[in-house]
Amino acid sequence: MKKIVVANWKMNPDTVSVAKNNYNSIKRNTKKYRKVETVIAPPFVFLNSFSGGLKMAAQDVFWQKSGSFTGEVSVNQLAHLKVSYCIVGHSERRELGESDIDVNMKVRALISVGITPIICVGEKDRDSNGEYLSIIKNQIKDALVSIKQKDLSKIIIAYEPIWAIGKKDSIGTRSLHEMSIYIKKVLSDLYSKRTAFKVSVLYGGSVDESNARELVKEGEVQGLLIGRASLEPKKFTEIIKEVNSIK
Ligand code: PEP
Repeated sequence: MKKIVVANWKMNPDTVSVAKNNYNSIKRNTKKYRKVETVIAPPFVFLNSFSGGLKMAAQDVFWQKSGSFTGEVSVNQLAHLKVSYCIVGHSERRELGESDIDVNMKVRALISVGITPIICVGEKDRDSNGEYLSIIKNQIKDALVSIKQKDLSKIIIAYEPIWAIGKKDSIGTRSLHEMSIYIKKVLSDLYSKRTAFKVSVLYGGSVDESNARELVKEGEVQGLLIGRASLEPKKFTEIIKEVNSIK
């Protein structure tokens, strides 16, 4: 299975011309790295600005299919733009009020139109008695309410511990490995072992070209969600190269 590396550009860049330059540079330079699926998640306003070649993700969506919802963007609109993935429940959106119920509504709406939700989960901090594990378990459980076993292969879980986002250091590979096993266990208890192993788990939080390879390899995750380092095409290309080199 191909590894997945997602560039979350967040609310950047300011102009369509910079967005196009960055997209084209990433596309040109990552073409040869065939073991990686490179995905770009730009702001909504740029989703339709590129010439094609790389998979696209939205950073959010609204769950209603159409109607009087000023300022929102629907799953139908994303589907018509040929968007393949959509991030939901990113910690920066949860901070602005997105609840587990909202996340679940978005996941259901996305699956109904064939867009793969990338469900972000992550704890604020780690405590010594393992409370953070139940936070992750509950976020996953709540996001998957009413999601059938047959649809599970269409979802991705992105583990993004909030304490490691936008920092100098990422999580350690050992802790990441423990968490990737734990997430599979939660999915296995909710569905079945076989189904759980069909779900890709990504890691996000202070990944750059120096730690990408070992995080994926030793953390045993199926890919990465990249914030800051995805805004520099050169750095992002190096990350893709590193992940592609994993045997
Ligand atoms: C993120 O916010 O999803 C993220 C991973 O950010 P960064 O890579 O900058 O830590």
